[in-house]
Amino acid sequence: MRTIAVLTSGGDAPGMNAAIRAVVRTALDKGVRVMGVQRGYSGLINGEIFEMNRTSVSDIIQRGGTILRTARCAEFLTEEGRKKAANVLKVFGVDGLVVIGGNGSFMGAQKLSKLGVSTVGLPGTIDNDLTYTDYTIGFDTTLNTVLDAINKLRDTSSSHERVSIVEVMGRDCGDIALYTGIAGGAEGVIIPEKGYDFDELCRTILEGKLKGKIHNLILLAEGVGGANELAKKVEEVTGIETRATILGHIQRGGSPSAFDRMLASRMGVKAVELLIEGKTSRVVGMRDGQIVDDDIDEALAMPRKFDEKLFEIANMLSK
Ligand code: ATP
Repeated sequence: MRTIAVLTSGGDAPGMNAAIRAVVRTALDKGVRVMGVQRGYSGLINGEIFEMNRTSVSDIIQRGGTILRTARCAEFLTEEGRKKAANVLKVFGVDGLVVIGGNGSFMGAQKLSKLGVSTVGLPGTIDNDLTYTDYTIGFDTTLNTVLDAINKLRDTSSSHERVSIVEVMGRDCGDIALYTGIAGGAEGVIIPEKGYDFDELCRTILEGKLKGKIHNLILLAEGVGGANELAKKVEEVTGIETRATILGHIQRGGSPSAFDRMLASRMGVKAVELLIEGKTSRVVGMRDGQIVDDDIDEALAMPRKFDEKLFEIANMLSK
């Protein structure tokens, strides 16, 4: 392994920069040349590739987003696009590629490896929707961002004795809503894995009021529906003033938490070690606190396991 490249792809996540830094500095430490690819697979196809050194990654560990920029690339979904990308890597003498991204980016990496490029994936996505790893890079920072918002909403909701419905990211995976529901002491968590019963939700809110609750905080994952619609319906049925807050892209930004910086640093080192060992088609993860690696195909095929116990905890502690 003489030259490796690194790119970020799909939605950005806090901690991607810490991962890029770890990849670059580990490679240099091991005497491997390292290139940065801008704008994910789109930049790869267009040859947006440049050599990186120690100072290319100075002063970025604390920054959200990604210094390499990120993109979604329709052309890479075609065999022709991927062949162009593989050719660019060949032209620049790149032997191995580190892809930092989510599920889609991994599928891209898997197909690129079939064209002879050694690839290793790092899970960079705020959604925590990759089964093979307990945590993805960015998830913890997003939880803290949502918690900060919830704390503020509690103040105003309590003052006005309102119901507050907070819509957070998560199309198929409700982990952001579930974890912040528990950590933020929410009265309800609505997630795609479990769905919800509208009448039961209204009953919980009304019972809460009878028990003396001065506010009701409901976490809603975007995959279940919109907060505005739900707030309107809840207000109609319960007669309690109900407000919707859609946190949106604020959830993607911000300085990465200590946990995400550690995770990204440990995973970045592992990715380069794997490439140097001659491994390909691997993804790096964390299970039971240990950094592990799996075959991309096997990792992507793992069926999602929903943590029923956490859902029980969310419901029990909210009563
Ligand atoms: P996030 O979880 O944050 O959305 P992601 O990596 O899943 O991140 P996607 O938009 O799904 O984000 O994928 C990023 C890019 O990966 C796509 O724009 C495309 O270029 C490539 N990609 C996605 N799916 C495939 C696939 N099945 N085959 C080849 N390339 C793919």
